[in-house]
Amino acid sequence: TRQIALASRPTGAPTSDNFRLESVDLPELADGQVLVRNVVMSVDPYMRGRMNDAKSYVPPFQVDQPLEGGAVGEVIASRSDDVAVGQHVLHGSGWREHAILTAAKVSVIDTDVAPASAYLGVLGMPGLTAYVGLTAVAEMREGDTVFVSGAAGAVGQLVGQIARALGAERVVGSAGTDAKVARLRELGYDAGFNYKTTPVRDGLREVAPDGIDVYFDNVGGDHLEAAISSLRLHGRVAMCGAISQYNATDAAPGPRNLFQAIGKGLTLRGFIVGQYPQLVGEYRERAAGWLAEGRLQGDETFRDGLDGAPQAFIDLLEGANTGKMLVRL
Ligand code: NDP
Repeated sequence: TRQIALASRPTGAPTSDNFRLESVDLPELADGQVLVRNVVMSVDPYMRGRMNDAKSYVPPFQVDQPLEGGAVGEVIASRSDDVAVGQHVLHGSGWREHAILTAAKVSVIDTDVAPASAYLGVLGMPGLTAYVGLTAVAEMREGDTVFVSGAAGAVGQLVGQIARALGAERVVGSAGTDAKVARLRELGYDAGFNYKTTPVRDGLREVAPDGIDVYFDNVGGDHLEAAISSLRLHGRVAMCGAISQYNATDAAPGPRNLFQAIGKGLTLRGFIVGQYPQLVGEYRERAAGWLAEGRLQGDETFRDGLDGAPQAFIDLLEGANTGKMLVRL
């Protein structure tokens, strides 16, 4: 079987040289294990951080070892009473065609309810991230004006729709192409702007002239600075990601206007979705309802084949995706 290993650590933006496709033999299944043939895998921005040799909330990938990440596969052999051949499972051993896993480390999913890919997107980690960030972290209330950066991505598309479902008064977003901004409108955003053709500060003032109550930050940098200027009294920021800085080789400047947090009584709160396991059930239930009502949908951008996974990841960081970036195996 084949897998992708980290060949070297990137400096700045990753390149194909940082990855290596290799063939390995699969060991025998031990008691309690299952053999999974992966059908779809996720590439995610946080994986860029794991490619650095730096202490973080997840341990770094090791050079010459296979990469890891969310994936869904079909069980093709089982030595566990809990998981049967033919079932589909969600697990953390992507970047490879086959995975041998302890049954306790996989969760069985129902592909009659939603396609396998949905468990890596709208029903999975990105959906939960959007929900946790809006509710538990930003404490969004009915009537709020909400601004989302990275709004056409996996998390961002869902943030806007969930904010709307939770009764936001106005939902605006930014994204990196005019086509993505047009898509935001179709998904229920009131307005959006292209941050590559309009300075963020100007774009935000235009789409939210009366200011914002909540900023869902996927980007950091000048987006965060512009949002701080636009936040109203007691505004709240869910600090979800800072993708504008993931490839940076120098320390990024802080928001120069952070002092405004004092006078406006702002809250800036960071979070990692894994810190909120207690909201998993609640999100699944509400998401299922919104999906059934047609109020929640997530676009998917597919690449094909394990050998296409490194480029899918490289392109994700460059904005090639609308909605969730996935690799079909
Ligand atoms: P996306 O699907 O949003 O893909 C990344 C997008 O980021 C690209 O499509 C691109 O879109 C945009 N982007 C790239 N570079 C820049 C830049 N310099 N400035 C602005 N936008 C840029 O990924 P996800 O939805 O999976 O993740 C979104 C964010 O949420 C990331 O920061 C990620 O790290 C974070 N995250 C955090 C979690 C948590 O637990 N805190 C969990 C999951 C994700 P464009 O064309 O618009 O530039």
